[in-house]
Amino acid sequence: MKHATFRGRLVMLGFGSIGQGVLPLILRHIDIARDDITIVTAEPRGREVAAEYGIRFVEQAVTRDNLRDVLVPRLRKGDFLLNLSVDVSSVELMKLCQELDVLYLDTVVEPWAGGYTDPALSPSQRSNYAMREEAIALREMARGGPTSITAHGANPGLVSHFVKQALLDIARDTDAPVTVPPPASDRAAWAKIAAELGVKVIHIAERDTQVADRPKKPGEFVNTWSVDGFVGEGCQPAELGWGTHEKALPADGHRHGFGCDAAIYLMRPGASTRVRTWTPLEGPLHGFLITHNESISIADYYTLRDPDGRVLYRPTAHYAYHPCDDAVLSVHELAGKNWQMQDEKRLMTDEIVSGIDELGVLLMGHAKGAYWYGSRLSIGQARELVPHNNATSLQVTAAVLAGVIWAIENPRRGLVESDEMDHARILEICRPYLGEVVGVYSDWTPLQGRGVLFPEELDRSDPWQFRNIRVA
Ligand code: NAD
Repeated sequence: MKHATFRGRLVMLGFGSIGQGVLPLILRHIDIARDDITIVTAEPRGREVAAEYGIRFVEQAVTRDNLRDVLVPRLRKGDFLLNLSVDVSSVELMKLCQELDVLYLDTVVEPWAGGYTDPALSPSQRSNYAMREEAIALREMARGGPTSITAHGANPGLVSHFVKQALLDIARDTDAPVTVPPPASDRAAWAKIAAELGVKVIHIAERDTQVADRPKKPGEFVNTWSVDGFVGEGCQPAELGWGTHEKALPADGHRHGFGCDAAIYLMRPGASTRVRTWTPLEGPLHGFLITHNESISIADYYTLRDPDGRVLYRPTAHYAYHPCDDAVLSVHELAGKNWQMQDEKRLMTDEIVSGIDELGVLLMGHAKGAYWYGSRLSIGQARELVPHNNATSLQVTAAVLAGVIWAIENPRRGLVESDEMDHARILEICRPYLGEVVGVYSDWTPLQGRGVLFPEELDRSDPWQFRNIRVA
């Protein structure tokens, strides 16, 4: 089914696992001439996939110096820049798209190469908080301009829509007075729903069980999506949206001292920070507290203020990620080398033999305890649904497709974050590609089974304190 017609030109920047996975979806669901699509990417990877679909392929890395020379001749008013690259500044691309009157979408706020790990920057300066602040600072300049969607993949992206659906489900199941969902533009109304339901903590709780026909080798980093992307964010400081129910800042916790103040960072990399969480198929698990844009955007969006601007309510929000087992081993090895990347990297594709990606949001602290809402997609389902995808990439590429369609349908919205988009429309487009979409209640709390073999300092008066969730 064609969801939209697009008569402009589409430039896809970057053609790695997400670019290659989204191309068949775009051609399937958007009425666009193949001749109007151009891929611009730094390496030959994916050339044969582009050829399979008859799409122009330009091998050209974009840098600070050549950004305008490469892109300006390829973009004019009404076109679309779909940024699925690493190492190219999202903010610079968004500025260019506003200037040229071009629609834009990316899946993360990406800095220039080296930006995640530049030792000349302070941990706060290389946080996602700082990168998001730089992106949303374009809001005023972009008002009334072409739609520029920042950070809309699976997470960040799709999970923001899962949060809204989960809130509506909890409201329904607890007889809370929410009949008509407010429009996405009404942040205060959504924050009020979360506050009144008593949601204290929101995890992006993900367990990836995909395995390959060959194990990770020593000196090799293996993952089900961008190795560079994962290592980059894993080396940033751990970050979390900081809720109003939290009693004390962690000993290594810091506020940024600028911007929206919805989040804090810990003085350590996310890839060495673990948290307790829960998913329906896995049950209790330890995940990495990897920094993500949505930890901050969700906490900011669901902040309720009094008329004087004082914060009345905000949930704690963060990622709790158990990547595929070979990626866990890869992170362990990487940490042992003091975050110096292995010589070899492998993005698992055709060699995956089994497994699922269980990706959802876990809302905690409300009347029914904990509620996980999300997607369970197996490698077999993903391969049957769309070529050139694994379970992880399809959750992302479906959301990229939905974001592109939403931008075409809403072309003059300026800068937009995922939380500000219509969740029902996005979920409608994504749902056929998400496998089983389920909502499951649980009586799990981070206090279950604790302090049995060894004494632990726990806050038993409130299970949902971050100090109970963090693995010490
Ligand atoms: P990948 O590593 O497989 O591919 C990256 C692509 O970028 C490659 O084609 C590479 O050639 C290209 N590239 C690198 N430097 C470039 C440059 N200077 N100019 C032009 N192209 C350049 O990565 P991926 O798995 O496809 O992920 C792409 C992006 O999407 C990453 O930023 C990643 O963090 C993000 N991502 C977001 C989500 C989400 O859910 N929001 C999920 C997965 C990936």
